[in-house]
Amino acid sequence: MIEPGSIELATGEHFDVCIVGAGIVGSSIAMALGERRLHVAAVDLDLSGRLSSSEKNAGGVRATWWQAVNIVLCRASIEYYQRIASEVGFRQKGYLWLYDAATWPEALAHIQLQRHLGHRIETLSPIDVGRRVPEIDRLDGIVGATFSPEDGLINPNLLKQHYRAEALRRGAQFLDRVYVTAIDAGSDAVRIECWRSDDEMPDAGLIRLLTQDAPGEAETGHLFTITAKAVVIASGAWSPHLLRLLGLENYSEPVRRQVCLVDNRTTNLDRYGMIVDTSGVYFHNEGPHILAGYSLPKEPPGYHFNYDGDAFFQAEVWPRMYARMGCMERLRHISGWAGLYEVSPDRSAVIGCGAPRVFEAHSFSGRGVMQSYGAGQALADLIANERYGALDATALSRDRFTHGEPVFEALHI
Ligand SMILES: Cc1cc2nc3c(=O)[nH]c(=O)nc-3n(C[C@H](O)[C@H](O)[C@H](O)COP(=O)(O)OP(=O)(O)OC[C@H]3O[C@@H](n4cnc5c(N)ncnc54)[C@H](O)[C@@H]3O)c2cc1C
Repeated sequence: MIEPGSIELATGEHFDVCIVGAGIVGSSIAMALGERRLHVAAVDLDLSGRLSSSEKNAGGVRATWWQAVNIVLCRASIEYYQRIASEVGFRQKGYLWLYDAATWPEALAHIQLQRHLGHRIETLSPIDVGRRVPEIDRLDGIVGATFSPEDGLINPNLLKQHYRAEALRRGAQFLDRVYVTAIDAGSDAVRIECWRSDDEMPDAGLIRLLTQDAPGEAETGHLFTITAKAVVIASGAWSPHLLRLLGLENYSEPVRRQVCLVDNRTTNLDRYGMIVDTSGVYFHNEGPHILAGYSLPKEPPGYHFNYDGDAFFQAEVWPRMYARMGCMERLRHISGWAGLYEVSPDRSAVIGCGAPRVFEAHSFSGRGVMQSYGAGQALADLIANERYGALDATALSRDRFTHGEPVFEALHI
């Protein structure tokens, strides 16, 4: 197998498209462009993704959203993940979402649209919840629930590898240790100015580059230029930097999210998919453990990667889980991590053409894994054919922030 990053660019090689950022979204776009026979270079400072959101997420996949475009892109992704389920560890065990009095009417108001767009979803009473998941033995505050059996969990690393392998098979080139420092989108081509580290990027150098701005003095590297007909900004939470290089308005911000890995000796939740409590805590079985997350409502934006560890678990996660399930009494914190959501004002992604020869797919606001396939296919059609094909992401264009309709999503964990 050809390893990403092992290919050197031939001098003067000209690409149809250069993708900046080869996380799960950039890798999906590379595959989709390859399927359309376009010659692709995907560059990334760290293809292993040590700080990338694609390596830090909870692996949830669902189409239970409020807005049609989000449901459609996630449905398309789910249908694709079904076809490659064993390769990418896709387990359709459903999402069980518990609602309180304040949120239940809103949930009910969107179920018709979800069903209309083909997404199976059941409504449950609190008693049904207790029957379906007997481990949920404290039903206080639950007014209703939804269960969507086609949603589930995926191994995001395997999915990213799948996209890359398919892209490589179609001739895409993945360049590792490459940091984009400038982009000039001219009338006939785009010039992408790159700095390439001569050595493996140490953690400290990576953090410096991805939390500050320019190559640090300690790193040695060289400069080179990639020329392409078009560029795609798929740089996740770092897209604001790339947009700034292009003089494009940025609307999104990085926000830290933490998840805990928990030792659970008394309960096996393996037969369930994701459970989302009324309190906002969400969890699912992760091998012999439980992965549990909670988004702090007042988390300040910024490139923050510190994980608050046992203190976070004890203060924010465990009390909420135990309040719902008595069997969680003896949960023990093992470890955890923090990564970045890239959050847009309406909590939907920005996908489309930002300027002539400049395309973008970022700000997935916690939905990048579950939407990666659909987003890649939609954008690739727009790039290859200058219009959307079967999947239309027009509603997610950046224009909506100035003179369009927001694509507001509230079921955001
Ligand atoms: C704790 C947590 C839980 C989550 N849970 C889920 C979930 O359950 N389901 C779901 O669908 N989503 C979830 N998400 C969100 C999901 O992980 C992201 O939306 C998704 O990974 C974004 O992928 P990406 O490819 O856009 O960005 P990334 O994976 O961050 O990739 C961006 C890449 O761009 C590179 N880059 C940046 N700047 C430059 C530059 N100047 N030059 C070169 N390369 C550059 C970076 O190195 C990086 O590899 C979660 C996120 C977190 C943090």
